[in-house]
Amino acid sequence: MTARIAVVGAGPAGFYASDKLLDAGFEVDLLDALPTPFGLVRSGVAPDHPSIKTVTRVFEKTAAKSGFRFFGGVTLGDHVSRADLLERYHGVVYAVGTADDNRLGIPGEDRPGSHSATRFVAWYNGHPEGVEETFDLTARRAVVVGNGNVAIDVARMLLLDRAELALTDVADHALTALSAANVDDVVLLGRRGPAEAAFTNPELRELGEMTDVEVDVVPAEVDVPAPDTLAATARRNVEILQTLAARSADPTARRMSLRFLRSPVEILGEGENGPVTGVRVVRNRLLDGRAVPTGEEEVIPCALVFRSIGYRGRPLCDIPFDDRRGLIRNQRGRVCDESGRPLRGEYVVGWIKRGPSGVIGTNKKDAADTVARILEDAEADRLGEPPAPDAADCAEWLAECAPDAVAWDGWRAIDAHECAAGEPHGRPRVKLVRLPELIAASRRTSLQTSTHRTEER
Ligand code: NAP
Repeated sequence: MTARIAVVGAGPAGFYASDKLLDAGFEVDLLDALPTPFGLVRSGVAPDHPSIKTVTRVFEKTAAKSGFRFFGGVTLGDHVSRADLLERYHGVVYAVGTADDNRLGIPGEDRPGSHSATRFVAWYNGHPEGVEETFDLTARRAVVVGNGNVAIDVARMLLLDRAELALTDVADHALTALSAANVDDVVLLGRRGPAEAAFTNPELRELGEMTDVEVDVVPAEVDVPAPDTLAATARRNVEILQTLAARSADPTARRMSLRFLRSPVEILGEGENGPVTGVRVVRNRLLDGRAVPTGEEEVIPCALVFRSIGYRGRPLCDIPFDDRRGLIRNQRGRVCDESGRPLRGEYVVGWIKRGPSGVIGTNKKDAADTVARILEDAEADRLGEPPAPDAADCAEWLAECAPDAVAWDGWRAIDAHECAAGEPHGRPRVKLVRLPELIAASRRTSLQTSTHRTEER
């Protein structure tokens, strides 16, 4: 019998792992909690970055391979348990990503107006769990804490030209709210210097290319000693920042200010729970690459704060979890117990394996490494020995556990519906953002889907 693997999580890591497994001759059932595939490509990548999203074409090819099945709307820990999967598959690959965000741990962090970037991103990208969020965007100034690409995405989305935004796949509720927003001044705070920022070069450079946005960089803050000794990305970042700092100011434009060597120490507001009125920050100096507070403080008045300081994994079922690192406990992709002993038939890929780092393509090699471990284990008879591995029985069982489960054809029906809704407006798609409407769209007949596809061509 062909060995069968359940991959849990249909983001890039899950798809890259599925692809390698299919090529190696395994059958793959790809499960996702949402009825839609593609994880952060759908609900993380910024709407104004459509070219990054074209990676879904690669994943579509994977889905077309023999031995692949998709079960969207099946949640591990809710519809099915870890033990259920181990009973039916020779191997289970966890590709669940890192769902939680890091907290600053400072007073005032939970005031109204202080938000996690994760939730803002989920909201503007139409993740069903983000739909009910509300963001009061009447304020003029927002502070974004963090110097990574997510912080840049959030800052850019707040100031993106509204006509440009209207041509993207941003969720309709966010399009309405962002179009009416008053935000015209965004301050991006880095706790370390420009050479230590986690931005990648294209993302930083893009800030300088935004319509009607002046990027405000203080020349003295980006005057880095010995830039030649820096790694290539950091050196280019510093060069980009120096170029931006040398540009003449445009007083009529909306403004994005990049400020370095500053850490928030308190989110200010009236009383204990009053809305945000500002951020108290301390100036830092660098000591052996670390940010050390100088004691010199300032207040940045604002009514909106987004913390964008990285993600961390969430413990799932009773899968061994390394609390300190916020990851599934593993060795080179094999899930391990506390003593480091690999558990038979359990593997991990992507951010929940190595932490939230790298770009989408980074997950390809990461997934290949884990699949290499699976092949070694298959060779050595160390995969699981499930008592109920029959593929047809398994599909029936999943349909019982999750009656609203969506198969690949169902996703294609959703996709066709969304693309058709976007077409008259010159948008790539209009996303369905609520589970009942997604499930209803998935139930449209495949005949309707294929008719639409033919017309598209
Ligand atoms: P990230 O790249 O790890 O950046 C996190 C930032 O938060 C760093 O600047 C970090 O500073 C800062 N930080 C951490 N703790 C802090 C604290 N207590 N106070 C102040 N600042 C703090 O994380 P991310 O932006 O969430 O991105 C996650 C991954 O997704 C990255 O690999 C990123 O490149 C990728 N991504 C890529 C794109 C794209 O390619 N367009 C878009 C979005 C995300 P320190 O360095 O000092 O720790």
